[in-house]
Amino acid sequence: MQVSAIPAFSDNYIWAIHSSSADNSLCALVDPGDASACLTFLNRENLQLATILITHHHRDHTGGVEALLAHAKQQGWNVTVYGPSRENIKHITHYVGEGDLVELSYINQTFSVIDVPGHTRGHIAYYNDSQAGTLFCGDTLFSGGCGRLFEGTPEQMLASLNKLSALPASTKVYCAHEYTQANLTFARTIEPENSQLIEYELKVQELRNKDIATIPTSIATESQINPFLRSHNEALKAQVQHLTGETYASAVQVFAATRLLKDNF
Ligand SMILES: [Zn+2]
Repeated sequence: MQVSAIPAFSDNYIWAIHSSSADNSLCALVDPGDASACLTFLNRENLQLATILITHHHRDHTGGVEALLAHAKQQGWNVTVYGPSRENIKHITHYVGEGDLVELSYINQTFSVIDVPGHTRGHIAYYNDSQAGTLFCGDTLFSGGCGRLFEGTPEQMLASLNKLSALPASTKVYCAHEYTQANLTFARTIEPENSQLIEYELKVQELRNKDIATIPTSIATESQINPFLRSHNEALKAQVQHLTGETYASAVQVFAATRLLKDNF
């Protein structure tokens, strides 16, 4: 299984899942918000679209589906579209939720669906445990950050992030945006003493200077540097309390306050 990035809009990544063998041209796309970027990629790589995986209803994740299906119809391609059962999204052929399996038989891989509400009410992620773990998490977990709480509560989002951080540390995390650098600028205000964060920020700066993607990240890295996975950390809590002038009794309060600080950063 190979995963390729298709950059779209100003900072989205659409992920293409396909075989690394040239005789297998079938391909899945995760959150194809931009059809023309996808079609250019499929053409260039000689790939045939077979599956679309959608994580949530936002337009920058779903906007290309209709045009891709029209193109597929013209080509005689049969495309299956998976998406969250708790959201209203057009063109989905298979509604899925927690524990459902998505089989990509053409590359011999099965993904399991994880419910991760918070950014949106029905947001889902797709996880595969082969190759040390592969996660497509849409706008739930970013490198150094997490999605805004448009439809869910801090409790829901923290529970969702806890589920993702409980995956094997080696899991590669494919999120949908290149937000890393801006996230780390904020993260440093929350954990100025975190040496792993400082080190990671230097590495990220180097990559971005060369216009290289910082994604995929990993659960191991995010557990060390992402303030939204570290609400239980005492030094982090002390700093958030210092910044807001409040006192927090639980991790979810720390998380909610951190999210609010980021919204206003
Ligand atoms: Zn979104």
